[in-house]
Amino acid sequence: MADAVVARCVEHLDSLPTQPLYGVHDTEALCRQMREPAPAAGTPLDGLLDDLFTTCIPHSFDTPSPGYLAYIPGGGLFAAAPADFLADTANRSTGIWQAAPSLVQLGADIRLCVSYTSDQVHHCVNESAKLAGIMPDRVHTIATDAAFRLSVDALREAIAADRAAGLLPFMVVSTAGTTNTGAVDPLNDVADLCAAEGLWYHVDGAYGGFFRLCDDTRAVLRGLERADSLTRDPHKGMVMPYGTDALLVRDGALLRAAHAATAGYLPDAPDAGEFYDPSQHGPDLSRGFPGPRMWLTITLHGADAFRAAITEKRAVEAARRVAALPHVVMDAPPDLSLFAFHLSWPGATLVQEDAATRMLMDATSRRGRVMVSGAVAGGRYLGHVCVLSFRTYARQIDHLIDDMQAAMHDVLPSTLGQLQ
Ligand SMILES: *Cc1c(COP(=O)(O)O)cnc(C)c1O
Repeated sequence: MADAVVARCVEHLDSLPTQPLYGVHDTEALCRQMREPAPAAGTPLDGLLDDLFTTCIPHSFDTPSPGYLAYIPGGGLFAAAPADFLADTANRSTGIWQAAPSLVQLGADIRLCVSYTSDQVHHCVNESAKLAGIMPDRVHTIATDAAFRLSVDALREAIAADRAAGLLPFMVVSTAGTTNTGAVDPLNDVADLCAAEGLWYHVDGAYGGFFRLCDDTRAVLRGLERADSLTRDPHKGMVMPYGTDALLVRDGALLRAAHAATAGYLPDAPDAGEFYDPSQHGPDLSRGFPGPRMWLTITLHGADAFRAAITEKRAVEAARRVAALPHVVMDAPPDLSLFAFHLSWPGATLVQEDAATRMLMDATSRRGRVMVSGAVAGGRYLGHVCVLSFRTYARQIDHLIDDMQAAMHDVLPSTLGQLQ
């Protein structure tokens, strides 16, 4: 089984650059066809691998492809796959101390507690607030400036107004690299305000956190180190397979206090000062064994390789070349490695510009060599390019520029005709 699976995986990896980037066509029939009862008897492996590699996998976004520049790319560093294979074979339960999921302790004042985010925050922050029992009307959205960064003045005013109204501000969530435009909030100024106001400071560094590894983005990320808690996604900046997430907290004792639990059938918890026990710091008891992905890849390749990989993905040259295309207005140059822009021409309405930009991004992706996406931010549709994967090189940026140029002629012939 292992030999058969490895052979298919290697073949698949070798073919990555020539696989269709956007395989999601006519999928409804395929999805219906896949609704089948579990077979009572077993099925030979070869046929199952055929189904997986020829039918299922190609009908999807080719996220590990070098040309994938859409959303926030993930890499899928291969060494993590053998690491998972080892971990799943060993099948150790790595969270053995805790018996019960933690309960969020709602004090009587929870209805008065207010948290703050910017209007560019990832929607998972609002979802998390709900799970924690904080109602949507107690998550106050703060306006961003022209560069899509949280406005510290607006935040200060909102906190003062809420205090005056008898509410209890308790937390601010900043983003270090937003999903829409890659903007980094003024982390250090927000940290100052949180310190002055006595508020918990969480930074969402899911996309941008690992740019701390690079020297030339340290200035824009100044203040990240002052967070009380920080989320980072190794499946983005460290090109791990999806599902590799990390939460860093300044004071582990607080996290432990929220999750610690014991039961008669569990052994004594280890000394909290010295040993990290997952089950005392999160909701899971029986859990998989995610550590080898990070351990094997980092020790095998060395930390410098990750630093070098992220440092060369700044997208500065890609953004310069996109900005130089006719009719492109750069709305958000890359603070890190993501930039956003729209099409504009004299006399165009917002609706026309939105439609043209959307068509440009779709038509560029349809040419099949790179995949790009877009997002609505600040009241208009912005095209979006994010360079992050270790497989992406200058050649894909050449493809991006060529295909955007060609796509402009495909989708906007009449508009361009009027202009040239
Ligand atoms: C990707 C992303 C998230 C969500 O993380 P997932 O690992 O995809 O669930 C949250 N915030 C930002 C800024 C992101 O880019």
